[in-house]
Amino acid sequence: MMRTGIGVDVHPIETGRPCWLAGLLWEGVDGCGGHSDGDVAAHAACDALLSAAGLGDLGEVFGTADPQWAGASGVALLAEVVRRLDGAGWGVGNVVIQVIGNRPKIGPRRAEAEATLSRAVGAPVSVSATTTDGLGLTGRGEGVAAIATALISN
Ligand code: MG
Repeated sequence: MMRTGIGVDVHPIETGRPCWLAGLLWEGVDGCGGHSDGDVAAHAACDALLSAAGLGDLGEVFGTADPQWAGASGVALLAEVVRRLDGAGWGVGNVVIQVIGNRPKIGPRRAEAEATLSRAVGAPVSVSATTTDGLGLTGRGEGVAAIATALISN
């Protein structure tokens, strides 16, 4: 059986915070706040995978009250999600992530991001990006968003 899932994440940008996005550290860019490293791309991918498998969502699995996951990297969360899917008999076909925001510019490091995330997932992960032409919280540079889909099978 094949199933698809979807995930969305949004975090506020905090001045001076390291920017972790799509499994990479982006020098010279203000990063996202949050309970973990603020990697919205990895988090959206986690939710896409969890929803596909019917295993709940990121908040439920890694609860912000659980100190074990405080400051956890997006890649670590992704690897743990895949481990849980594997335990439930699901293999990952692929994951698609679109980042929505002004900065960082994904293009120059797309291959690096895709390689990093694909390694964590054990299946192809593609990363694209778009802006909202200055509209909304991402357009004003207040935050970064990501949307992801996943295909899994058993
Ligand atoms: Mg998040």
